[in-house]
Amino acid sequence: MTSKITIAIDGYSSTGKSTMARQMAYQLRYNYVDTGAMYRAVTLYALQNDLFHPALDVQSLVEKLPDIELHFDKSSSGKGSDMFLNGKNVEKQIRGMEVSNKVSEVAAVSEVRHKLVAEQKKMGARGGVVMDGRDIGTVVFPDAELKIFMTARDQVRVQRRLDELRHKGMEVTRQEVEANLRQRDLQDSTREDSPLTRADDARILDNSEMSAEEQLKLALGWAEEIIQNL
Ligand code: C5P
Repeated sequence: MTSKITIAIDGYSSTGKSTMARQMAYQLRYNYVDTGAMYRAVTLYALQNDLFHPALDVQSLVEKLPDIELHFDKSSSGKGSDMFLNGKNVEKQIRGMEVSNKVSEVAAVSEVRHKLVAEQKKMGARGGVVMDGRDIGTVVFPDAELKIFMTARDQVRVQRRLDELRHKGMEVTRQEVEANLRQRDLQDSTREDSPLTRADDARILDNSEMSAEEQLKLALGWAEEIIQNL
């Protein structure tokens, strides 16, 4: 039997991390974990419980953390898995602009990170996982056998996110999407706890000029090379 490795994928917003991570997991028969969905679900909880006035009431959120139960389960469409918050499928709600505009504020709270990182470590404890986020190669799995740091030119990322949201039927403007990506990248890379940064041993994948197939082939090639040399 071939051994299973851990694959950590990090990078800026809308660089196509989730798409690639999901495809890699499918090809390798690994589990895929979208850690951004977890931070988004905690943000949705904070919005639903009126914890923004307009700044986040950090203390109340921290007190309520034990009441937040997150898990992934089969999606209703049968494709992949969806995020569940306290037993409710919230996959659609967590992708909207309201959550996107607040998520980096929630993700900067150390107690939130502590809870989610512990759950992520458990989910990947046995290897055979592809996990994407902002701190996977640096904090969650610093010993991951393969680390990839994804980037793409700003305008490419804005267009991709715009297409994705419109495809889901959401009404958004280019300006809104662009402002949100800039704000999140800035907040995510300047926060004190686990800022977004490339792990020293991560391979950089700039996919500005690559098709989804090309980047998948490249990343799978890296994974296979590592698996064969284990
Ligand atoms: O990956 P996605 O864009 O859905 O992530 C949403 C937000 O969640 C990020 O902008 C970031 O603030 C936070 N996040 C994080 N650490 C992770 C994954 C996501 O701080 N590992």
